[in-house]
Amino acid sequence: MTAYATQKIKQLWLEITPKCNLGCVHCYADSHPNRPLRESLQFEDWCSIIDEAAQMGCNRLQFIGGEPTLHPDLATLIKYSKKCGIPNLEVYTNGTAVTTARTCMPKRTGDDEDNEDDY
Ligand code: SF4
Repeated sequence: MTAYATQKIKQLWLEITPKCNLGCVHCYADSHPNRPLRESLQFEDWCSIIDEAAQMGCNRLQFIGGEPTLHPDLATLIKYSKKCGIPNLEVYTNGTAVTTARTCMPKRTGDDEDNEDDY
C-alpha cells in the first residue's frame, strides 16, 4: 500500500486510448483514426493505476478515449477493476462500435461477478 492510500478520491477517468474510429472536428481529445491505439501507458500501468485508485477509495471509474471500445485490453481492465472492488464502472463510448463493445465485455453469466448490468 502506498502513501496515497490515506487519501480519498471518488471518481477516476482513464483515457486508455487516443484513437477513435471517428474524427469529430469538435473532439476534446483530438482523437481520430490515425492516432495510435496505445501511447506511453501499457496494460500493467493501467492495472497499477486501478490498484491505487481502489486503495484510495475510488468507487466510480470511467474508461474514456478516444474510443475505449477499440482498445483490446478494455474487457480485461474492466474485470481487473471489478476484482479490485471498484463497484461502478462505465465505458464512455460513441456507440458506433457497439457490436465490438458488447463482444469485448465479460459475458452475462447470471449472478456472478461478470454480470454486465453492473457497468
Ligand atoms: S472521441 Fe468522441 S468527440 Fe472525439 S472523435 Fe471520437 S466520437 Fe468524436
